[in-house]
Amino acid sequence: MKETRQTGVHFSADYQRHDTGPGHPESAHRYRVLSEALESLPPGIERVASARRATVAEVLLVHDHSYHDLVYRDTELLADFLRTGDTAICEHSYDVALEACGAMLTAIDTVMTGNLAGVFCAVRPPGHHATANRGMGFCVFNHVAIGARYLQARHGLKRIAIIDWDVHHGNGTEEIFIEDPDVMYVSLHQEHIYPYTGAATTHGRGEGLGLTLNIPLPSLSDGCLALAAWEAQVMPALEVFQPEFVLISAGFDARMDDPIGGLRWDDETFAELTRRCVRIAERWSGGRLVSVLEGGYNPAGLASAAVAHVLALSE
Ligand SMILES: [Zn+2]
Repeated sequence: MKETRQTGVHFSADYQRHDTGPGHPESAHRYRVLSEALESLPPGIERVASARRATVAEVLLVHDHSYHDLVYRDTELLADFLRTGDTAICEHSYDVALEACGAMLTAIDTVMTGNLAGVFCAVRPPGHHATANRGMGFCVFNHVAIGARYLQARHGLKRIAIIDWDVHHGNGTEEIFIEDPDVMYVSLHQEHIYPYTGAATTHGRGEGLGLTLNIPLPSLSDGCLALAAWEAQVMPALEVFQPEFVLISAGFDARMDDPIGGLRWDDETFAELTRRCVRIAERWSGGRLVSVLEGGYNPAGLASAAVAHVLALSE
């Protein structure tokens, strides 16, 4: 019998301090329901505590100094939104975003030391719409992007793959690495919705040409289409790239019944995508994988899909 993978999960009530205001889909309530489900995972899944918050220097691995300062100042000023546009914040958002990022960095360290093979970090606010100089969507700091740079700067790895299956295209992550020869960005997302980027014709630029892979999926399509696209396009590209570490932008808003997303994936789709990421990690990356929560706005659906994801990580 195949040995199970040593898997961890990180979640914390601290993230509920990020208050996005009444009626906002990216809510503390959504996170509470998810946390309750993660509490009931089997005992073999280790609970990973965060060792620290991210430092400013780590944020600056990806973000402009001026944008970091803007987030700090807007939070201090008790603004309801970042002045870059549509990102709801509260007085704790700067701190919580640094805590979220620090937890992911702790997870990366844990995986790099070989104590666990894979960790799912259930954090908020999410990150993949945040560009180097701009908060967007519900995102403040781009966690996976910082994770990729941290793996290179702190752990000396070179080739990092970021797989993003949130229903929205991760425009921030794409933009940050569009010319990067060492970070591959793969996104499966619903076409023609926010942020209206992620065309299949975008393949990267300059030295990064060929390392951006966008798979826009039609509204109402189910998981079969995504899995077929994985087999036809994603898998061959990752086999050529041979990543040394796999990061996942794990959004669960492509799940059926999500109030924002318009795809119809079921929990098994998320489980199967997870297995395929693990397969890539085991083949090229010494099994090393960290996934980070992005979207997912039907609380019960989010909880159910995230549990399927973690269980598949541990198979
Ligand atoms: Zn999303």
